[in-house]
Amino acid sequence: TPTATVFPREAPRSAALFDRARAVTPGGVNSPVRAFRAVGGTPRFLTRGAGPLVTDADGREYVDLVNSWGALLHGHAEPTVVAAVREAASRGTTFGAPTTGELRLAEAITGRVPAVERVRLVGSGTEATMSAIRLARGATGRPVVVKFAGCYHGHVDALLASAGSGALTLGLPEQATEDTIVLPYNDLDAVRSTFERHGDRIACLITEAVPANMGVVPPRPGFNADLAALCREHGALFVVDEVITGFRSGPGGWCELEDVSPDLLTFGKAMGGGLPAAAFGGRAELMDRLAPDGPVYQAGTLSGNPLATAAGLAALRLADADFYARLDRVAAEVADAADAALTAAGVPHRVRRAGNLFSVFFTDADVPDHAAATAQDTDAYAVFFHAMLARGVYLPPSAFEAWFVSGALDAEALARVREALPAAAAAVS
Ligand code: PLP
Repeated sequence: TPTATVFPREAPRSAALFDRARAVTPGGVNSPVRAFRAVGGTPRFLTRGAGPLVTDADGREYVDLVNSWGALLHGHAEPTVVAAVREAASRGTTFGAPTTGELRLAEAITGRVPAVERVRLVGSGTEATMSAIRLARGATGRPVVVKFAGCYHGHVDALLASAGSGALTLGLPEQATEDTIVLPYNDLDAVRSTFERHGDRIACLITEAVPANMGVVPPRPGFNADLAALCREHGALFVVDEVITGFRSGPGGWCELEDVSPDLLTFGKAMGGGLPAAAFGGRAELMDRLAPDGPVYQAGTLSGNPLATAAGLAALRLADADFYARLDRVAAEVADAADAALTAAGVPHRVRRAGNLFSVFFTDADVPDHAAATAQDTDAYAVFFHAMLARGVYLPPSAFEAWFVSGALDAEALARVREALPAAAAAVS
């Protein structure tokens, strides 16, 4: 298995910076997957971004297929987003009092997502899911949370059990997850029998709208609707995590595309336009159980921050129906090109895609759940990743993350990706 060996020759300035960072920050990073542990080599320190491209400390340029893990819908330093942040900053960076920016962003969210009548803004996706399950427990008076193996909902203790993304080993005491039931994804029978046995103790079931933290594992047709129906039948709340899919899969997120109505939804990433903003929302009657009107406490010093709401609003305004149609088309082009290159090189793989979200699994088996996702050849991914990086394409540094495209991925950037793929595929075979 690759380790976090630093290869100074491949990126000497990044290697030196990473050495310094390791002296003062655990693992040298502020979020584990940035450390390249899954692929080995030197994590690149990124110094600037412009549209579809990022530049590292050694002056090398890459086409970015991470886009800050989905936070950037329009690529880097999109001019109207930057202008909105500048303008907001010039009027004051934080007040800890109501502002029109947070009001407008809340109206933009409730206007776009039919299942959200009221929304509360927070600072991160983790806070959003933590607050949603607190509200679900408070509203139902029940303790148990049901989640799926491989779904990541941030680093909330109760939700870290069998989480995907970087959280494969946890170091949590048992009590932290004793009211969490973890089930295999896409397995309705497992959900049904769990509700039959524990239904009256279940506060909520939480799922990613499209799981994208074990690689992208799309829901079977009707799976989300079936989950909603089972929750309703047993008086549990259906909580859908749209931190990745919200305002990325479509203007109203993934649930709107499937016509599924969750009780609570969580958002993050894209809604902040590249700044820290996240949210949870749902029916008015449920959301009104939050303080100050209700007993369920939730708060935040920087919640609804003026810079973040300005960036978020600017990003959402740029995302009309045409934008999403193009994003889906561009994602399909990259996914198809990767598929074709790996097929031509004879590399066993599966490309799984749901709208503009996709990833490549290095396996020749179907990938319906976490067990199948983790059975892929991660060493093959590491080789592929480095071959793409050497050719100027920055893929997610883990086989278990989605590839994120942005509206800034133009014909020239796409051509660079297409050019890199055949050689990278050949390096794996
Ligand atoms: N939910 C999902 C589906 C995510 O992908 C993530 C982060 O990757 C989170 C929640 C947590 O969000 P944050 O990293 O902003 O805390």
